[in-house]
Amino acid sequence: MEHGLAYHFVIGNGNGMQDGEVAVGTRWRWQLDGGHLASEAQNRISLGICLVGNFDEDKPTPRQMASLVALVQALLKRCHLPVNAVKTHQQINVINTRCPGRYFPFPRFMEELRTANARSAAEKSAASSAGP
Ligand SMILES: [Zn+2]
Repeated sequence: MEHGLAYHFVIGNGNGMQDGEVAVGTRWRWQLDGGHLASEAQNRISLGICLVGNFDEDKPTPRQMASLVALVQALLKRCHLPVNAVKTHQQINVINTRCPGRYFPFPRFMEELRTANARSAAEKSAASSAGP
């Protein structure tokens, strides 16, 4: 497709890429629209992150999930977005898709994001109240 890889980021599972390795796509580097959703309007306002694997058959690896949490947390901070801005492909695609698959632990992932977010907010307020 035009501009190659449809996603902004890819997270490996040890098959072709290191387990948990985050590849930064040219769409992120050049700040281009995604090509991952069926709707052009949605591609203009969303970032696409792809995890290698078939999560209808396997779970993502622990390292993939750790990298995903760290990456999404950094992106939410950088883009000033709330945790609720994070959606699965299935939740927003205008054409039905099974992606990310039944073994992708979405509720647990969102819980980890909220916990990580709350921790960084607490650290921030502790740092500002302890400031000079
Ligand atoms: Zn997908």
